[in-house]
Amino acid sequence: MDCIFCKIIAGELPSKKVYEDEKILAFYDINPAAPVHIIVVPKLHIESLNGVNPENIDYISQICLKIPEIAKELKWGYRVVTNIGADGRQSVNHLHFHVLGGKKLSIDLG
Ligand code: AMP
Ligand code: ZN
Repeated sequence: MDCIFCKIIAGELPSKKVYEDEKILAFYDINPAAPVHIIVVPKLHIESLNGVNPENIDYISQICLKIPEIAKELKWGYRVVTNIGADGRQSVNHLHFHVLGGKKLSIDLG
């Protein structure tokens, strides 16, 4: 499958890993939008949040448990973003959560 994040998960493309377990990989974004910008992905290829369903929700929900742990260095606060579809500015069609922090973030979300 021609998916950048599946290739990173498979070790076919390099990444600067932050966290990994059997279901989740977290790595630094190659083009950071904040002083700390981590991408958190399920190892299962799901196109976006629109692809979450009753069969895979248990798998995906593990990410909610892990993000606060992965972000613990950002103790003053951070933002989690997931873009969906072209108008939502999703450029990689593998569900991922941006974890942004390391400064007082902009209020502008749109
Ligand atoms: P999105 O626009 O929400 O789909 O976000 C995709 C993110 O993946 C962008 O912030 C990119 O900078 C990031 N990205 C793309 N390729 C890589 C890569 N090889 N390693 C790390 N981050 C990447
Ligand atoms: Zn993928």
